[in-house]
Amino acid sequence: MMTFVERYLREPYPNFVWAKDISVTVCGDELEVSGTIVLDEEEGRAAPDFLREYRQAISRYGGQKRQGKSSPHIQFANAETDEELIKFVQRFGPIIVSSLRTEERPTPYVIDVPGVVHYEHSVDRTVLVARQVLAELRSEHRAYRAALNLVAELQRNKDADTHKIAENVSAIVTNISKWPEQWERERQLRNGGLGFASQPAWLFQQENLEHLETYEYYASRERTGDPWERAVVMDPITAGHHSICELVNAFSSQVYPWGKTPIEAPHWDLTGGIRPVLYYILRREYLLKTRTVGICRNTDCRQLFEIERFGQEFCSEECSRLQRQREYWKKRGKNLRKRRANARKLRRRS
Ligand SMILES: [Zn+2]
Repeated sequence: MMTFVERYLREPYPNFVWAKDISVTVCGDELEVSGTIVLDEEEGRAAPDFLREYRQAISRYGGQKRQGKSSPHIQFANAETDEELIKFVQRFGPIIVSSLRTEERPTPYVIDVPGVVHYEHSVDRTVLVARQVLAELRSEHRAYRAALNLVAELQRNKDADTHKIAENVSAIVTNISKWPEQWERERQLRNGGLGFASQPAWLFQQENLEHLETYEYYASRERTGDPWERAVVMDPITAGHHSICELVNAFSSQVYPWGKTPIEAPHWDLTGGIRPVLYYILRREYLLKTRTVGICRNTDCRQLFEIERFGQEFCSEECSRLQRQREYWKKRGKNLRKRRANARKLRRRS
């Protein structure tokens, strides 16, 4: 009875894990990513979980004092190099797999209670061996970065910069153009018996791409002052909103029991890659309606960050200091130039 109550009180949050003990090898223009399938809740809790780290990083979810850029979705969007993207895959698994197989590998199994028992043998464990195409990883990064930038821009409401909206919608369209083919590829992998679900838990087809191309057109269209046009033609901000909806609607969320409370989360079968978790987080951030994502105002930085307090414009103290310094020097330089010009004028007059 006691154990039942304890278990119930500590009902674990569902795990969103691709595999544990993930390793990555670079093979030309592809990554080979392998990891052991987790067998139970306990193993899942010990494995890297993208959604868990997001929940822990964001104080809205009762996480620790946030560091504006510590959430994994921000880190993925801010990555600058292939090395950073590969490190990300090594931590959480592939974003999208291009091929997949399983292998039984002997894995050491150790029970060690010092002074009491030491027991060691080898068990066969199922290992996922996947390929992640590097070009696809880069495209996913660019698309996600643009999507998060777009959300940040849209959250500025009437202050949104329509040129930036157009730029980000275009970057999204360019970088997700292979999603319909990727969906078909994952469907075939699953038909071949890989993964739990027989169909991908996401859906994005040619028509969805066409919708996005339409929004791209309206986002970049120069507005004339014609009132008739203003009334019937979609404006860039609306086109930006539709673009985000089109993206996040490709990844349906699921409802899970959690103790007595139902929760909403991505589909747990991430065999095809962890992309559904990335877009689930985008959906959450977008639905919050208040400003949650910022773009650093330091012109040398421009990184994305989670807004922690009202009016925050910089990703860090350092960026705030640098930009203030730059603005001070600029202003000072301007004043100096003005003073010199005035002095010259006075000299000429005298
Ligand atoms: Zn910054």
